[in-house]
Amino acid sequence: MSGEQTKTDLRSLTCEELREEMLRMGESAFRGGQIFEWLHKKQARTTDEMTSLPLALRQKLKENYETAAPEIAERYVSALDGTRKYVFSLADGNRIESVLMRYEYGLSVCISSQVGCRMGCRFCASTLDGLARGLSAGEMLGEVYAVARDAGERISHIVIMGTGEPLDNYDALIRFLDLVTDPRGMGLSERNITVSTCGLVPQIRKLAAEKRQITLALSLHAATDEARRELMPVARRYTIAETLAACEEYFRATGRRMSYEYSLVRGVNDREDDARQLAGLLKGRNCHVNLIPVNPIAERDFRAPEAARAAAFKKSLEKYGINATIRRKMGADIDSACGQLRRGRRV
Ligand code: SAH
Repeated sequence: MSGEQTKTDLRSLTCEELREEMLRMGESAFRGGQIFEWLHKKQARTTDEMTSLPLALRQKLKENYETAAPEIAERYVSALDGTRKYVFSLADGNRIESVLMRYEYGLSVCISSQVGCRMGCRFCASTLDGLARGLSAGEMLGEVYAVARDAGERISHIVIMGTGEPLDNYDALIRFLDLVTDPRGMGLSERNITVSTCGLVPQIRKLAAEKRQITLALSLHAATDEARRELMPVARRYTIAETLAACEEYFRATGRRMSYEYSLVRGVNDREDDARQLAGLLKGRNCHVNLIPVNPIAERDFRAPEAARAAAFKKSLEKYGINATIRRKMGADIDSACGQLRRGRRV
């Protein structure tokens, strides 16, 4: 091993781990609880803000741990709907993006789980420059806390649908879920969290076994394996049948209704026949289909269907007894719609 040892990210530690760390440092365990509360309840950005801790301890924390929170480097506000896109710079200079959206039910933040992505979905900008690394749980929390602070309001929902494949960063994702739902911290309900995956079957099964109350969204996008392989390289690893079986297992284990995402691409998967085949696949399953008219990215020439075609597709699904909605496009003027987030360059 060579090079400098990277320090543990303080925001990624659970309350119990912080208590153990304090004992190891010769401090009393209750300091760990105080630090947890400073980080996750009061959402302190620096150790300097932790005024109930002795100065010497704050100093020790700074020396021994990574304490920097992701910094908002740029912020864009949509003139169309008030959606905000944030560009963050991380301690190592990498950049990531998050999006804040306002719905009737509250504020929802869409966070990134990785710097870039290696899944290679054809229509998605996030994957164009490949994967740099997964985010730590603390970095994902840092996105949420910084957005909450900037909005000056409570965040009610988190969707892990920004850049990256959350199940390709599985351990950090689970740690994130533990931390964000801890009542000693932010205390968000699992039911207000959605994780979206392109369909990593073994990890979907692993997540099912965790029996959490989070909503799982599967990016399906096609009704036949052949068509899906054209759009998503992951479809070469797992068939639709295997993928849907894993989703069924998720539903059985958690009782949470599955959500299927289907990006409508003009002339590719938006015909009446596609709707019929999709309905055939999902018939009898307790699920919801989210239709996303594809958002254009400069590097590809995929186009969304006309609004009337998208509406007809939704109607066909409903005729076959499948619940469907067309996802409202948010923040398109600031490139913050689905699939438009990018892996930022290092600064
Ligand atoms: N990796 C995860 C989460 C990130 S993408 C996943 O694949 O689910 C969130 C959703 O946006 C996915 O359904 C994804 O397929 C979809 N998406 C990506 N690019 C898009 C685009 N250009 N237009 C519409 N939806 C897109």
